[in-house]
Amino acid sequence: MDIAHSQVDKIFEYSCPDNLQVGSRVKVPFGGKFINGRFAGEKVVDGFVIGVSEKSAFPPEKIKPIKEVFDEAPALVTECFSLMERISSRYRVPKAAALRLFLPSEMRLGKVREAFKKYAKVRDISAVIPKNAKKQREVMDFLQTVDEYDYTALCNKFGAGAVNALAEKGALEIEKRQIQRKPFGGEIAEESAKTLTYAQVNAIDSIENSEKTVHLIHGVTGSGKTEIYLQLIAREIARGRTAIFLVPEISLTPQMLSQLRARFKGEAAILHSGLSAGEKFDEWWRLRSGEAKIAIGARSAIFAPLENLGVIIIDEEHDSSYVSETAPRYSTQEIAQLRAEYNGCKLVLGSATPSVESYGNAAEGRFNLITLTERINKKPLPEIIISDMRKEVKRGNNTAFSLALREELDKTLKSGNQAIIFLNRRGYSQTVICRDCGYVARCENCDVSLTYHSEENCLKCHYCGARYKMLTACPDCGGVHVRYGGTGTQRVVADLNALFPDAGIIRMDNDTVSGKDGHYKILHKFAQKQADILVGTQMIAKGHDFPAVTLVGILDADMSLHFSDYRSGERTFQLITQVSGRSGRAGEAGKVVLQTYCPENYILRYAVNYDYLGFFKNEMQVRKATLFPPYSLICRVMVTSENDALALETLKAVYFAAEELKKNYPDEFIFLNRMHSPIKKIQKKHRYQVLMRLKSYKLLKQLYDIAVKNTSNNCLVYIEENPANLS
Ligand code: ADP
Ligand code: ZN
Repeated sequence: MDIAHSQVDKIFEYSCPDNLQVGSRVKVPFGGKFINGRFAGEKVVDGFVIGVSEKSAFPPEKIKPIKEVFDEAPALVTECFSLMERISSRYRVPKAAALRLFLPSEMRLGKVREAFKKYAKVRDISAVIPKNAKKQREVMDFLQTVDEYDYTALCNKFGAGAVNALAEKGALEIEKRQIQRKPFGGEIAEESAKTLTYAQVNAIDSIENSEKTVHLIHGVTGSGKTEIYLQLIAREIARGRTAIFLVPEISLTPQMLSQLRARFKGEAAILHSGLSAGEKFDEWWRLRSGEAKIAIGARSAIFAPLENLGVIIIDEEHDSSYVSETAPRYSTQEIAQLRAEYNGCKLVLGSATPSVESYGNAAEGRFNLITLTERINKKPLPEIIISDMRKEVKRGNNTAFSLALREELDKTLKSGNQAIIFLNRRGYSQTVICRDCGYVARCENCDVSLTYHSEENCLKCHYCGARYKMLTACPDCGGVHVRYGGTGTQRVVADLNALFPDAGIIRMDNDTVSGKDGHYKILHKFAQKQADILVGTQMIAKGHDFPAVTLVGILDADMSLHFSDYRSGERTFQLITQVSGRSGRAGEAGKVVLQTYCPENYILRYAVNYDYLGFFKNEMQVRKATLFPPYSLICRVMVTSENDALALETLKAVYFAAEELKKNYPDEFIFLNRMHSPIKKIQKKHRYQVLMRLKSYKLLKQLYDIAVKNTSNNCLVYIEENPANLS
């Protein structure tokens, strides 16, 4: 039953036509009462066929027949049912909610039925038509002049009665055909596989010969990981198997899409948010029908309806977009691993900056590790220069740019190259920093930085809820340039315009990007060299290949260091590496200027030297010493409701249950408390949380139980594991 409710999360039996296949979508009568030999008060609902059997334990008269079978072919692949059970028990969601993941929402809601069209044509010209059936005669005459005609249009023209009567006696043939929307108009350029470098050949050999299921490619930016992925896919296709290729949504740039289409043509189906509902639907059916064998897309493409998978690839595996923000809050990597095990296929993760969890798995031998240390053609990685912004302030420079960055910008523009200016606006406005000495306000209990809350004019720790007074002077140096809030992209552009009046500058952030292809347009303009400097936030950090960019300026490298998040060190390292990777990819060697208030910070040191391993070892030590993941589990139980009193009451119940657990397993708990969520209300819903840090995953199942038990119609309780965002 396609009803995601725990009370009807069961299997129901119906009688069915002989040829019904498992995986089909159906309409069935549901509910109602059995009175006097017939049912009354029933509704018709959607459901999935999850099994067909000859016998039933119910008496035949109590079994209702299926009303309608939707698709010619079953929509769900058999694998779904095995995954359904595992997803439903792992993330504690109704089975129907787990199954829904495997169907695009466009399809479930029946919005794009017009994907099928009916056509009418004459079959038997000698069919007998009664004298008084004038309309029928007209239809026959008309059809002989046009050969074939849209069934709906024909009915509108002559009346459905006449058309259907003709069809019934076999005079007409009505054919149902799928209409294919072509999301990718225009010619597809030819592109053939590149001759692999020695390192790439080794990587592929290692993946093919390893017994392990999961493979991690740790390769510096520009080391040719993409080519490895494409050739791994091509090999599996040649073996008659299929493939899934996942990238962060933001990396599905026009460049990337055209490269993929050029390589795989119709064999690839691309599922991304830029497609219309109808296009998505068609691409999905091309995969389901076996016409396309490669699914390419963001997170949700992991549920692509492919059978016989040969390889699953997750590019930029560290990216936080791989964790779903809505229920079920699945981890893409976990689902990918389940599918890989089911299909006996390989799962390949790739990144220049793997998450410490993944690298830890590789270092300890659970994953097969492949390391690529050089860029293709041995192009050097760009040199990273550090600008100490404390000195700039002392020198009286109050602009957003250090002297060094200004000089480098000047050189770049004079030589006709392009520059990218990156600023880290997210979180910036809420961190409190002393501009004289670089001091950052941190929590005494948790050793993460504090977040400024303007409505209460105080500082808060997102991990324990502690509150601190807003600072007026720096406790370290006594300076009064204590600031929160940073430079916005707008102000940076204004400063740049003043410094370089002749330069063409474009800005890319949430304010300038509108519409589904807004950011493609801006990037395209920059790629065409219609501007010299691109100013942007996180959006410009990933995946883009601009050959003329030889300078990257990172205005506030350390700001993400102070996010109130245990992963902020990791995030900062990733960000610097990714952004720097945009510089000097072709032709001339690139440079990066990194501005910071704390140049001595070890994370920056590792990043400047491209020392991932050093960073990793250090980070693991810190996590171990402070008991943060992967050495613990952070679990947030969210309680949200429009009714504040109900939310509070539920929060108490959840907290009470968690306390009971703590009594039974005192050693498992590092921290347990309840509080308002940092953002107290979203879309009219009041938000509270029970926050805990646990030594292991041992109690997770019981915590899910608590969440399910306390959820009611008007109050939602859900679990977040190691949430990327504690707002
Ligand atoms: P990564 O994904 O590791 O950042 P890319 O796949 O983008 O690296 O490769 C960097 C550049 O090298 C791209 O322009 C790509 O076309 C090119 N390239 C990759 N492999 C080869 C190869 N075997 N021969 C020639 N050029 C290659
Ligand atoms: Zn704290």
